[in-house]
Amino acid sequence: MIHIELPEDVRYIISSLKAEGHEAYAVGGCVRDCLLNTAPKDWDITTSAFPDDVKRIFPRTIDTGIKHGTVTVMLKGTGYEVTTYRVDGEYLDGRHPENVSFTGNLDEDLKRRDFTINAFVYSDETGVKDLFGGLDDLKNGIIRCVGNPEERFGEDALRILRAIRFAAKLGFEVEPETYRACIKLRQNLSKVSSERIKAELDKILVSPNPGHISVLREMGISQVIMPELDRADISGLSAALERAEAELPIRWAVLCFFLARSDRDSASELMRRLKFDNRTRDRVLLFIRIAEGKLPVPRDPEFRKACRILINHTGKEDVFAFLSFCEALSAAFPVFDNDYETILQEIKDIFEKKECTSLKELAVNGRDILEISDVGGAEIGRILEALLRKVMDEPELNRKEELLKLVPEMAGA
Ligand code: ATP
Ligand code: MG
Repeated sequence: MIHIELPEDVRYIISSLKAEGHEAYAVGGCVRDCLLNTAPKDWDITTSAFPDDVKRIFPRTIDTGIKHGTVTVMLKGTGYEVTTYRVDGEYLDGRHPENVSFTGNLDEDLKRRDFTINAFVYSDETGVKDLFGGLDDLKNGIIRCVGNPEERFGEDALRILRAIRFAAKLGFEVEPETYRACIKLRQNLSKVSSERIKAELDKILVSPNPGHISVLREMGISQVIMPELDRADISGLSAALERAEAELPIRWAVLCFFLARSDRDSASELMRRLKFDNRTRDRVLLFIRIAEGKLPVPRDPEFRKACRILINHTGKEDVFAFLSFCEALSAAFPVFDNDYETILQEIKDIFEKKECTSLKELAVNGRDILEISDVGGAEIGRILEALLRKVMDEPELNRKEELLKLVPEMAGA
């Protein structure tokens, strides 16, 4: 019998439910991850107990999805989703079941799950229960639907993207019948919300195989959810994504860089449609814009100054992410070949020496300028910018009295 070392809290939840006469198991992704020897992100529990029972047994719970039978049990600040065995009603919209009903039968609950490798349950007493051959699929690296793939994707088209996401994350193959059904039912993805689509795309992009994003094009799926990808020249995209750090904004920036090369507006259009938060969207667009300009080159006599200007353009907090983005692009475009290590060291040194790279760090501010001259608001901005340019040229100038000496001439200009 396979043994999984359950966390103490999970064992406690399962044994408390059992003590009250219910069945309870760890279920789904957490069992899969343990069998793959990776640490699960979170632990889900499936039980024959009804939500009201769960709420009675545990002192601190949250009604996470009470209609769907999910109650979150809070233990020492960590939440565990405890869900009643359920059968999904009919899916009429290709997204959500019309209703769900609770069942006393574990097998019924497992049948509604998407893939064989996501349909395990485990408890210390029973070991792993594997109804659909998931252990073999796990061993052989296969993503296979539980039941009839066309039916399953017809119920919930998001599962199509989940199949590709798990293939990317685990380096698995999608089993041929499941693969064909993904292609056949791809049009249904147009009914899935952009938030859920984005969440899956995010997971593909930060996976160890982000190049799987191009699988979406091979399968005709991008036509439905990301037509920008079909219009772009994506040769080199996989190499660049795989070179990039597994950080979402960096991987998205790489993908969007390719999209924007073929069509300027497509990157911002895609991010708008997928409801990116403004900060990420602005960052990605800024990275693309800066990458079109000249980047610091160590053998350039003005190298250090170019580094300061780069910091000014990206902002201090984003300069390393930006460099990482450029380095990833070098896997596809020779113009991005550069000595990134040296640039990195130079920038660290600029930070260490506290050289000024932004208006915030300038030794004078608008008020200082107003005190010695009577220029207007717009003029002040222009003067501060000019002072900053000088200081980025010559960091030693960044002293209040030095800078104020320059103001009268500038104000007169
Ligand atoms: P992750 O590592 O992303 O958390 P996971 O497999 O745990 O992967 P969750 O979205 O947390 O995925 O879902 C938990 C479990 O619920 C899955 O393992 C699967 O059994 C089931 N499940 C989730 N989404 C679906 C779906 N759309 N259709 C069918 N079953 C699903
Ligand atoms: Mg999970």
